[in-house]
Amino acid sequence: MKNSIIESPKNQWVMLGALLIAGLATLLIKHKPSTEPFPGQETRIITASDSLMYVTVLPQDSTVLRTPSADLTPEELASPLLKELMAKMLYTVKHPSQDGVGIAAPQVGIDKRVVWLQRLDLEGEPWRCYLNLHIETMSDSTETLPEGCLSLPPMRGEVTRSPSVIVTYIDPDTLLPARDTIHGYTARIFQHEHDHLEGIVYADRTDSLYISQDWAAERSAFTYSRPTWW
Ligand SMILES: [Zn+2]
Repeated sequence: MKNSIIESPKNQWVMLGALLIAGLATLLIKHKPSTEPFPGQETRIITASDSLMYVTVLPQDSTVLRTPSADLTPEELASPLLKELMAKMLYTVKHPSQDGVGIAAPQVGIDKRVVWLQRLDLEGEPWRCYLNLHIETMSDSTETLPEGCLSLPPMRGEVTRSPSVIVTYIDPDTLLPARDTIHGYTARIFQHEHDHLEGIVYADRTDSLYISQDWAAERSAFTYSRPTWW
């Protein structure tokens, strides 16, 4: 008995169509943007780094320091890799060899909007992490004060910034959106770290760069050589 399903011309066209659709679907799946958290080199940097991470410096790490950072995806916000990155960034910025008041993820080779900074405006000056940090508004008034940066040793320079800002971010504990108004020197730290997320460094905002002998002396023990696997 003949198989009418196979031999019917109409059904052959239906089958051909189905095969074409299946082929197209496979192609689309293959070319769909990856939702894997921290793809490629970023995962490598997070997992292979010691607690004290390599801190990127200009000019040798200009690619990562000059690329605007992306918001963390929902997959990245939920990933254990983010917790590992946060822990290592905090250890690094507080380490005596760095001793900073803030650090942004591009400074450890990751172009994602993750920042740690010291809230000098709060009692006990606690360290706080801010995910997907954005500045909503800045005050119109400005003040000019010296700044330095872990990625520009051993320089300093006078930078004009707003003394208060409103920031939005994802709270790392609740993973909920949050908003805060910051005043004083801490507002300056927020702007400095936010600049890093935009691929900007404070040297872009000053014409008064100078070598700080104190800085050079304080951090002479730290070598800025990249790990071989980096
Ligand atoms: Zn900096």
